[in-house]
Amino acid sequence: MLKRVTSEFGEKGDGPAHAASDHRLVAGHAGTSVVDIRGLSLTYEAADGPVYALSDVDLQIDEGEFVSFIGPSGCGKTTLLRVIADLEQPNAGHIHVNGVSPSEARLRRDYGFVFQAPALYPWRSIRKNVELPLEIFGLSKAERRERSDKQLDLVNLKGFENKFPWQLSGGMQQRASIARALSFDPKLLLMDEPFGALDEIVRDHLNEQLLQLWRKTGKTVLFVTHSIPEAVFLSTKIVVMSPRPGRIIDVIDAGILGRERRLEVRETPEFLKIAHRVREGLRSGHSYDD
Ligand code: ADP
Ligand code: MG
Repeated sequence: MLKRVTSEFGEKGDGPAHAASDHRLVAGHAGTSVVDIRGLSLTYEAADGPVYALSDVDLQIDEGEFVSFIGPSGCGKTTLLRVIADLEQPNAGHIHVNGVSPSEARLRRDYGFVFQAPALYPWRSIRKNVELPLEIFGLSKAERRERSDKQLDLVNLKGFENKFPWQLSGGMQQRASIARALSFDPKLLLMDEPFGALDEIVRDHLNEQLLQLWRKTGKTVLFVTHSIPEAVFLSTKIVVMSPRPGRIIDVIDAGILGRERRLEVRETPEFLKIAHRVREGLRSGHSYDD
């Protein structure tokens, strides 16, 4: 039985009854997609009336893909990620993650979530921050140590385990929060503008490191960004979204750029062509009212 804690790490303490009833929704639906979304809509009930955040979203994501979501501010990118992570409930439509409901996937610890701010606790060492979800879950000290060693190595933070967050650069802090998101070795890594607050040179470097990590681990990554070059550089697939209510305007395959990418790929005609199509999609969807 899971402990009841805040939702940040995905535990809400749902009992087996909840999981079992969700399972019915899945019957006959489990496909090969890691994420399978059909006709999904979500409306927030705000004090001054409804906010139509997502409208009729269809999306299939295969295992091992790197998918970027790009669209104007307020178009529902965060909402979509939060629906996938079972942190918001849609009003309509179907969603399956690894063939089960988001809540079952959450109980199986299929997700790791990385936010824009690193959200590390300043009074805990880097290792202790990475181990926090494992501690909450009640893993033994030895197991926590083994997992944090592995994940910190993966994000190139070996040797920084005993430092405190404020002793690290912004980029290193964000790498530590990626290591924390990976602490349960989830199949899906959800990243909401993780590098948005960093300068471009640091961001370039982190992008290269993130691609390496993705190739090494074979994770499926869902990545929200405002940056066209970042989206094209990282992704096998780019999902272009319209302003509110968020709809999918275009899904662009960037597989032609290969999986082994260096920053120089950004100068190639193939890259520029894809970037152009993203820009066109964003322009066609924009109503210029916000
Ligand atoms: P994005 O991440 O693309 O910037 P969001 O998913 O955060 O967009 O938000 C989509 C829309 O829903 C925005 O208009 C936002 O103000 C609104 N919204 C988000 N969360 C809530 C909430 N809890 N209650 C009411 N409105 C919300
Ligand atoms: Mg957002």
